[in-house]
Parts: sequence; structure tokens; C-alpha cells
Amino acid sequence: MINIVIFGPLGSGKGTQAQKIKEKYGFIHFSTGDLLREEIKKQTPLGKKIETIVNSGALVSDEIIEDIVKEFIKNNLNAKGIIFDGYPRTLHQAETLDKELINNNLKIDLVIKLNISESIIKNRLKYRALKEGRADDNEDTIINRLQFFYQYTLPIIDYYQKTNKNIVEIYGDRDVNEVFADICKQIDKLL
Ligand code: AMP
Repeated sequence: MINIVIFGPLGSGKGTQAQKIKEKYGFIHFSTGDLLREEIKKQTPLGKKIETIVNSGALVSDEIIEDIVKEFIKNNLNAKGIIFDGYPRTLHQAETLDKELINNNLKIDLVIKLNISESIIKNRLKYRALKEGRADDNEDTIINRLQFFYQYTLPIIDYYQKTNKNIVEIYGDRDVNEVFADICKQIDKLL
């Protein structure tokens, strides 16, 4: 089983690229953001608990995420591959993911780091807000989410370097298919 972390700030195209990887390679797309939004939409007990946090652009607690991830890995051990999108988001989550994978004789095979400038992120998210109507795509929340990214998420890359992960940096501000072609070259090396 191939495990890929697609890494980058909000608006870098992680979700779009993960979806394309899923379609081409038959891997499972694991997006914690999508899962959490689904819980909110259904107004489950978890959804009600996290709604304010997610809509403000803050991070949901590591404990909640950990429960979701453990359950997910346990239920998907037969998958061809998994693309982790929007997860891990903190150093603690990154360590937990490594432990969970190792416990199942698995590892992270590839980290795709999508690089993109802040001004492009802001433009893209304004467009997404109009198109998808996401409650957390407004200007204040975007600034919050970017701060969370720099403070809590970006340090994961240092951890991944220290633990010798296979990290590939890809420039994200290009045509979706050009970015995808670069990603495919990397995935094909693993097959
Ligand atoms: P995303 O769709 O990945 O941009 O996530 C949307 C929101 O869901 C984030 O701003 C957080 O509030 C929450 N969220 C998603 N994934 C995580 C995670 N791994 N850890 C904590 N919060 C998360």
C-alpha cells in the first residue's frame, strides 16, 4: 500500500490534485476537512462540537483528529494507496501518523509539497468562496488559517526532513494538469 501526504497551504490545490490522483490510481482520498464538514452538515454530536472551531478557521483538537485517523487506517488496510490531504496539520499529528503506519507495517512513501505564493492563495480562495460557499473562505478566516498553517503545519516539513521522508516540491501556480503531470511522475516511480 502506498501512502502519500499532499502538503501545502489552503488554496494550494491539494484537494483538486488528491481527487485526480484518486481517479487515476484508484487510491483513497482521505481529507480530514471533508470529513469534518460532513459531520457539521449532518449535525452529528461531533459536528455540533466542532462547528464553531472550523468556521473560525482554527484547528480541531489533535485528540479528535487522532480518533478519526486511527479508525480510518484500521478500515482501509487493504487499499492500493491513501492520499492524506489536510492531514497531518500539527507536529503531534505527524508523529501519530508515523506511529499508526509503523504499527501496521506501513510508512509514508511520498510527501508532495505544493508551493504557492500568498497573494495567489488569497485570490483563489475568494473565487472558491463564491463557487462553493464554504463558511470558512472569508477574508478574516483566511488570514487565521494561514497563520495556523505557518505556525503549526509548516514545521512538519522539518520533521519530515529529519525523519528522511521522500519529499518532492512542486510549484502549484500552474495549470492543474501541468501540476498533476509532475505529481504523476513521482507516483509512477513508486509503482
Ligand atoms: P481543509 O478542508 O483541509 O481546509 O480544512 C478545513 C478546516 O477543518 C480547517 O480550517 C480546520 O478547522 C479543520 N481541519 C481539517 N483538517 C484538520 C486537521 N488535520 N487538524 C485540525 N483541524 C483540521
